[in-house]
Formats: sequence, C-alpha cells, structure tokens
Amino acid sequence: MASSWRGLIAAAAAAGLWLAAPAVATAQSLIRDTEIEMIIRSNADPILEASGLDPDDVTILLVNDPTLNAFAIPGQRMGFHTGLILEADTPNQFYGVLAHEAGHISGGHTIRNEMTQAGMKPFLLTMGLGVLAALAGAPDAGALLLANSGYFGTLGALTYSRSQEAAADQAAVTALEGAGMSGRGLVEFFDEFRYQELFSDERRFPFFRSHPLSSDRISALRRRVSGMSHYEVTDSEEALFQHRVMQAKLYAFLNPPAYTLSRYPSSDTSYEARYARAIAAYRAANTDDAIAQIDALLEENPENPFLWELKGQVLFEAGRAAEAEPAHRRSVELLPEAGLLRLNLAQSILAQEDAARAQEGIAELHRSLAFEPDNPFAYLLMSQAYGSIGEDGQARLAQAEYHFALEELEQAQRAAVFARGRLEPGTAPYRRAVDIILASGATLEDIEDLDRAEAAGRL
Ligand SMILES: [Zn+2]
Repeated sequence: MASSWRGLIAAAAAAGLWLAAPAVATAQSLIRDTEIEMIIRSNADPILEASGLDPDDVTILLVNDPTLNAFAIPGQRMGFHTGLILEADTPNQFYGVLAHEAGHISGGHTIRNEMTQAGMKPFLLTMGLGVLAALAGAPDAGALLLANSGYFGTLGALTYSRSQEAAADQAAVTALEGAGMSGRGLVEFFDEFRYQELFSDERRFPFFRSHPLSSDRISALRRRVSGMSHYEVTDSEEALFQHRVMQAKLYAFLNPPAYTLSRYPSSDTSYEARYARAIAAYRAANTDDAIAQIDALLEENPENPFLWELKGQVLFEAGRAAEAEPAHRRSVELLPEAGLLRLNLAQSILAQEDAARAQEGIAELHRSLAFEPDNPFAYLLMSQAYGSIGEDGQARLAQAEYHFALEELEQAQRAAVFARGRLEPGTAPYRRAVDIILASGATLEDIEDLDRAEAAGRL
C-alpha cells in the first residue's frame, strides 16, 4: 500500500478517529456494524413505535465495554454495552431491557444528578463528538472502534430515581405488549443478574447502579407482565438465530482468537460458530484460512451481504484492495441502501490509487453519504481522493465537511474559506463552502477578513 494511504490513516488517528482491530481496543468506544444494527433495528423499531417514539429519531449506540450496562440519555439516544448483549440469554431479555430504556426516553426522564445547565453543555458537546465520530463507519473493521471522549465513563455516576425506574418498567411492559412480545425476558434479566450480584461482590453490574433495583420492583413488574396477553409468546427461531449470530460476531471481533476458538470449537458446526471461527482466523491474520472459511459459508449463503462484506474486509486489510473490491461490490448489490457498505466499496476502489478511477470512488462516497449523511470518514476519504487528482477546491470543501460533521467549527470554517477561494463562484460546491463558513458562526464581514487574510497568505 502506498504511503499516502498510511498518511490518511494517520490523519484519521490524529483527528480522533481510531481505526484499529477490536483486539487492541482498550478505551471504551462505539461500534458500528451494519449487520448488528439491522438485527437490533428490526426488533427494536416495533418496540419504539409502541413506546410512542419515532424510531427514526432514536439513536441506538453500541458501546464496546464488557460490563453489563444500558442507558438512555438526552437527545433520544440509548446505548447498550456489548457486555449486556453477550450476557443476554435470549432476544426477549435484550429487547426487554431496550423497552425499559425506551420507557426512560418516552417518559422524558432527566438523569438525576447535580449537573447544571452550564455543566450540561460540554457534556452534550462531548456526546455529539463521540456520536459523530462513531459515524465514521466501518471501513477497516467490521466493527469499527473509535475512542470516544470519555463520555460514557461518566455514565456510571448517573442514576434514575426509583419512581422513574418504576415508570420505565411500566412503559416497557406496555410497549412490549404493543409490539406483540412478552415482558418475561425483562423479569428474567432482572432476576438473573440481581441474583448474581447478591452472591458475589465481584459481580457488581453498572446497570443496577444507574437503574436501582429492589425486590418490590421486581415483584411489581412480574405481576404486571404475567397478566399480559403476550406473556406466553416466545422468541421465534429467526429471532433466536439472529441473536446467536450477533453474539458470535461481537464475541469474535472483541476477543482474542483463542477465546473464540474455545467458545466456538470446531465440533460446533452451526452457522454462528463457523462465522465466529472465520472472524477468529481473520483476527489471527490467517488470511487464506479466513477466506477459505468465509467462502465455505458463502457457498451455502451466496446472498448474505455481510459475508461478502467480511470477505472484502479481510482482503482489504491484507493489502489486497483490488481483490476486496468485487466482494464489497457484491455486498452493495445485495444491500444497496447501507451507507457503510458503500463506504467499504469506495475505500477499496480508492486504495488502488488508480487516478483514472478516483472519480468513480468519489461518486461512491457521495452515494454512501446519501444514505448516511455527515459521516466524517467518508469526507476524509473524499478529501484525499480529490487531492490526489488535483481538485484542490473540492478537497478543501470535503475537509471542511469533515470538520463540520465533527462539530470542529473553527477548522471547518478555515477549510471552507480555502475551498471558497478555489471553487468556481456560483457553483453548488462554492455555495456549500459559503454555507459552512456562515454555519460555523462567521459573518459576511468575517468572510471578507478571512478572504483578505488568505490573499495575503496569512492563513
Ligand atoms: Zn432504568
């Protein structure tokens, strides 16, 4: 791979985007993965609707953290630690917790602590950065990890009141019933982990620090849940399968290959076990082995976009971008509206460093952004691609978009001024540069000042 590509990765690292294999992830971070997001969404959306929320307005975050926790925070955001997903025995348990968090959101529960209005602002800003940075997508890892700004670490200190907990439980039961699901999993989840806490000091779960639990609360919940008409409804085979796939994928990406091979030994010939072992082979840098295992899965599931995505990822990270491209292209054909899959395809085209194909890669980035707007990593790639073919104005504009998406307004404004000076007045990119300058808080006078400074070479 040519050095400029490494430079891009370094630039991403400097910008706070952390592109790394999950193995080296020590900091708490957000995870993006199209397959996992689609599994969760397909189950969560009916619950959110039954909670009176618009699913499109709710952000679901996956936090790479092995502890058991989930939370709801301002801005209709809810988050789940990977530890909670891995520990949830059934989909019904996991979506029960999700319904409870939805209850906090629909109830407008503000997090109980001493934060003043003034103290809340940097808190939300940090959140914004973390979330936007996470939208960088997953070009280098099926689960891309981004170090966040320490935001989630502060959540341990947050606590809902007991009355809010009771209200969220009630809302959860109503929402699960409305979505045709049983509330039994939520009770099971509380029972099981509460029991573990009682009998081991080492098993203290952050979830029960932020969501205080009492035996009265569990009893009240159990009574209400068991009276619901969908109480006896159990998880479908499909839901159970998706849950196992999600757990296997997360486990294999987040743990050392040896752990994965121990949890999913070769004697286990289930789809999810073979999927986990293929990921473990990739994590162990056994590229040929990984590809052979993925190809075997593809033979049985030729239309699974995520197997194609994984194959493309393995090849891309082995420095074989030209071979990764057709695999990523297939994943895009199978799932054309997934922005992150298009980002993979664009990256595999651009990494081949064929100037004649730069526009093709850039067009793919634009299509990716149409499905997932404001993705900083897409703009970073775009800036690099335009730069490589000498389109300076467009490269600067993409750089401005990148900073703007990360809410780095000063840098956004500066790059947009550069862009404006290099773009044809009256064109759409030119107008967009002006928009960013103004949206970054500049006045028309500021623009004139910046223009003068730039003309004088002072920027
Ligand atoms: Zn709660």
